[in-house]
This record gives sequence, structure tokens and C-alpha cells, in this order.
Amino acid sequence: MKALVYHGPEKKSWEEKPKPTIVLPTDAVVRITKTTICGTDLHIMKGDVPTVTNGRILGHEGVGIIEETGTSVVNFKKGDHVLISCITSCGNCSYCKKAMYSHCEKGGWILGNTIDGTQAEFVRIPFADNSLYPIPAGSDENALVMLSDILPTGFECGVLNGKVKPGDTIAIIGAGPIGLAVLLTAQFYTPSEIIVVDQDENRLAVAKAFGATYTINSAESDVFAKVLGFTNGKGVDVAVEAVGIPATFEMCEAIVTAGGHIANIGVHGKSVNLHMETLWSKNITITTRLVDTVSTPMLFKIVQAKKLDATKLITHQFKLDEIIKAYDTFEHAATEKALKVILTA
Ligand SMILES: [Zn+2]
Ligand SMILES: [Zn+2]
Repeated sequence: MKALVYHGPEKKSWEEKPKPTIVLPTDAVVRITKTTICGTDLHIMKGDVPTVTNGRILGHEGVGIIEETGTSVVNFKKGDHVLISCITSCGNCSYCKKAMYSHCEKGGWILGNTIDGTQAEFVRIPFADNSLYPIPAGSDENALVMLSDILPTGFECGVLNGKVKPGDTIAIIGAGPIGLAVLLTAQFYTPSEIIVVDQDENRLAVAKAFGATYTINSAESDVFAKVLGFTNGKGVDVAVEAVGIPATFEMCEAIVTAGGHIANIGVHGKSVNLHMETLWSKNITITTRLVDTVSTPMLFKIVQAKKLDATKLITHQFKLDEIIKAYDTFEHAATEKALKVILTA
């Protein structure tokens, strides 16, 4: 089969690899019908994720058709249409028992990381019963690809951890696909104001179209002053960090109001300054999280009911064997006006 293979920083190729087989009785092999590229894959290509080694097939999102199941898989059979979760979970370990699937002792984020992933014609999914979701007939596959990772990540790490409540003021720092997923899912709770901050005018325009009350271009204006201006000098109840650099985390520290929440989503490669000299008395909560995908069944129902149009996040379509071109487009998101790209086998 063909697959997108990582060969060290900045090196990848679309090449022939052996078709995966059942290794453990809890496995399934899935024929990929649609997959996508994540911002995390770009971090991997820069060499930021040392657990990904030479020869690894990338990708942790997608939908497909079950090709083969191990003898102990009970929920799925050959021919079933399935959504692949970016998080693999055994369902039995101490973390899975707490619904913290991201830290499953035998799984977690392993696809396209420590085991071969979904940017291929076929993928082996361990613990298939817990790590796949059935897709009803007639569903829009493109929309469901957004449920593998970005919608549950935005919702769990940003909205749930940020404790968004009706009437809250929210700032989302970073209007990439994850920041926009926060913007879409925060609206379940009817916040009074959502401020979106980015340096890319196109993404800010998209944010406005997706329901942002205000947008701020941080390359051109003083974010702190603008946020205070929009919030009667108070700052926001919830500041969501969706970039992963020190400057944007510190921006959240500066704009959060007393009693507020800072919800980190960004993948950080460097330490950040925690300004305890100003925060010690402010009753704030800071959260971090790797998505657990506990909200996937709920989000699945909302997307199926068309209460949330996940396809709004998709800007480009490619064939699976055009994946090198798709990476190029996604890497140049600002000039290409790219959000999520869909690859169809
Ligand atoms: Zn991802
Ligand atoms: Zn587990």
C-alpha cells in the first residue's frame, strides 16, 4: 500500500509500505476513505515531537471501512463504516476508568506518533472497540473527519476546561482550525462576547463569519488595550490559548479577569513565564489537557443533527495520493487561505 512516511525533520515521502495486519485480537485494520493533516503533523515535520521516529506513517484523523477485525473485537465487523478517534483507548486501565483516555496506559495519542497512522491506504487500529465509532448510512464523511481530533480538542481543552458559561466573555488566541473549533463549540453555551485574536486577516474574517463578536489583529494592535476596551476595562472570563508559544500564553495571563479561567490548548515547545506577581490574588484557574475524546459521541450527534456545520472548517480537497501537495498547501496556510484539507482515497 501507499503511505505518507516521516524520514526525520523536513523529510517525508509518499511511498510503498506493507499493508498492516492484525497483531492483537483487539485490533482492526481500516481502509482509509478520508483523512486530513493536523497542525501537530507540521510540528512533527519540524522535528518538535521526538517520539516520532524515522519510517513512521503520519496521521491521526480519518474515516474508513473496516477491512479486517481481530477475534476479540465485538462492536465492529468487516465492511462497517467507521470514524477513527485520534486517541486510542483500551477501556480497562486506571486512566481509561477515569475517562482520561488521553493517558491510556496502552494507548493515548499513539496513531501517527508511536505507531503507524492514518495518512495511508490502510491503518491498524488497536483496541478497535473503544477507539472507533460507527458511522450511520448517509452521513457526510467530510464533516465527520472534523470529529477525529479538532472538534473534541477545541471543545474539551478550550470550552469545557475553560468552564464557559452563558453570558461569559471569551478570548480565543489563535484562529487556526483548533481556535475556530473552540469558537464554534463555545457557542453551545451562549457567551455574550467572543473575541478572536490572530495575525492573519483571512482567518479573522473567517472567525467573524463563524460568530466572533470582535476580532483583533495582534500584528497591528495592542491586544491588551483592545480587550479591556471590549470588556469595560475588566478583561475576559475565559482566555483560550490555541497557538502554543510563550507570547500568546502570556497574553492570556494579561487579559483574564479576576475569577477567570485560562485554558491552554497549544502544543508548547518552550517554557512560559507565569506572572504570579499579578496573578497570585486574582482567583484564576489555569488548565492544561490532551484531548480525551470523551465528548466525541455528543459532538457526533450535534454534527449529525446539523446543529453545527463542521464542513465550514474545510477549505481544500485533494486525492490521497496528492498528499505531498496537500502538505505544501497546509504549510502555507496564510497565503493559501487554508484551514482543514481533506484527502480522499
Ligand atoms: Zn491533530
Ligand atoms: Zn486504557
